[in-house]
Amino acid sequence: MKTIDKIYINGEFVTPQGTEYFDLISPTTNEKLGKVRLGNTEDTQNAIRAAKNAFKTFSKTTASERIQYLTNIKSSVEKRKNDFINVMTEEYGGTLQFATISYEYMLKGFDSAIDLLKSYDFTKTMGQSEVQMTPIGVVGIIIPWNSSNGFIASKLATVIVAGCTTVIKPSEMSAQQTQLMMECLHHAQLPKGVVNIVNGLGEIVGAEISRNPDIAKISFTGSTNVGKIIAKEAINSMKRVTLELGGKSPNIILDDADFPKAIPLAIAAAFMNNGQACIAGTRLLIPENKLEEIKLIIKEITSNIIVGDPKNPNTAVGPMVSTKQYNRVQDYIQIGINEGAEILTGGLGKPDGLENGNFVKPTVFINVNNQMRIAKEEIFGPVLSIITYKTEEEAIEIANDTTYGLQAYVSSSDEKRAHNVASQINAGRVQINGIGHDPMAPFGGFKQSGIGREFGTFGLEAYLEPRALIQQK
Ligand code: NAP
Ligand code: MG
Repeated sequence: MKTIDKIYINGEFVTPQGTEYFDLISPTTNEKLGKVRLGNTEDTQNAIRAAKNAFKTFSKTTASERIQYLTNIKSSVEKRKNDFINVMTEEYGGTLQFATISYEYMLKGFDSAIDLLKSYDFTKTMGQSEVQMTPIGVVGIIIPWNSSNGFIASKLATVIVAGCTTVIKPSEMSAQQTQLMMECLHHAQLPKGVVNIVNGLGEIVGAEISRNPDIAKISFTGSTNVGKIIAKEAINSMKRVTLELGGKSPNIILDDADFPKAIPLAIAAAFMNNGQACIAGTRLLIPENKLEEIKLIIKEITSNIIVGDPKNPNTAVGPMVSTKQYNRVQDYIQIGINEGAEILTGGLGKPDGLENGNFVKPTVFINVNNQMRIAKEEIFGPVLSIITYKTEEEAIEIANDTTYGLQAYVSSSDEKRAHNVASQINAGRVQINGIGHDPMAPFGGFKQSGIGREFGTFGLEAYLEPRALIQQK
């Protein structure tokens, strides 16, 4: 039983003013792992004050100083590799496979941030003017539980590249993961107040960050509903917002795709991170005349998917983060059945022998049309909807017939054809013949998948304000 009773403000571990506790429950066994003491409005205000004060000097640091801080953070994160992987597995239920990849991405993210800092020109000439790209101020970072330390690392790296300071509010369900990150950041010896972390509830800590006039910008990842609440509040003090919201990503398998390669990739894209991923490819669009062939491949692959203990290195799908999330996924499977979709594999209930944890059966629906709720709404669990199309044009039309637009996938054995289809999809990222991450390319959504972009130059410039100096000669 662990008790986490400190938050991180102004370079110190402090006891929150808030006195409420939140139980930390294992997703794998539903046993209590520990508890976390939650910060309140006053704690949040203290953290914002510290960040505001630190901004005065941190905004003036040089690129080489910031590179040094990023290097320090990376090296302290490197020293705790096993702890990062283990705590994500235990507290969140991320599989060992996923937690390991996630950890590696986190490290690479610091390298990319350093590269960006080395190459980015903070002073530009535009027209007759000198344009100075200046750090925006204190950034509020509000994030969910599905990749908690990954989100902290990538957003914080951009904060430092830009010369900003930050107050971070992770999900209270990620408290042990957060504690580990706090220890690494403390060890990295950043100037006091550059990074502050407050555990607490969205409606209290998150709401104060959204409201407080000393926060200049919010970087949020989470649901579209909460993104809208934050954006509405932010406008009162004209905060800038970067919102990474939900998705219902289409995966177009063209008729000339190499099915034995493309279909396993499609299943991996749908069930990645236990299906709890905003970029999951949850609508699989396949040619109508290939349905029978593809059904056989899917049955074969899914019969070999190991669901279970996330610590087992062979496990592909672990538990849902909470019983709430488990129930949400069950509700959606029931909705799919009620809507008349047909279950190809999986279905309601827990897999045999896994009754204690929040395990769901990875589920594939066929006979889905794009108007059904299971095709329109983000489920955030391992549930895949298969939709058939007759022509390439129809596939593109279905892919774009969504309120979301975060990511999409296209498979074809003809690179030019895949490129042409990908270029017609309204999504922030389109993955062609695979799944990958490019930390220098923009990431973010069209439509209700969000506002703005993260990573690379686009990501950095969202943390900067341009100041044009127009000098008359
Ligand atoms: P969420 O409710 O959007 O929460 C994300 C973050 O926002 C959490 O830190 C949350 O705090 C905070 N928050 C909640 N209400 C707030 C408010 N009024 N003001 C400021 N901050 C607030 O997401 P969730 O509860 O973790 O998951 C719910 C659903 O969101 C999922 O089922 C999924 O559909 C979607 N989701 C999407 C992503 C993504 O990457 N796009 C990630 C996770 C979840 P609390 O934790 O205290 O509520
Ligand atoms: Mg919530």
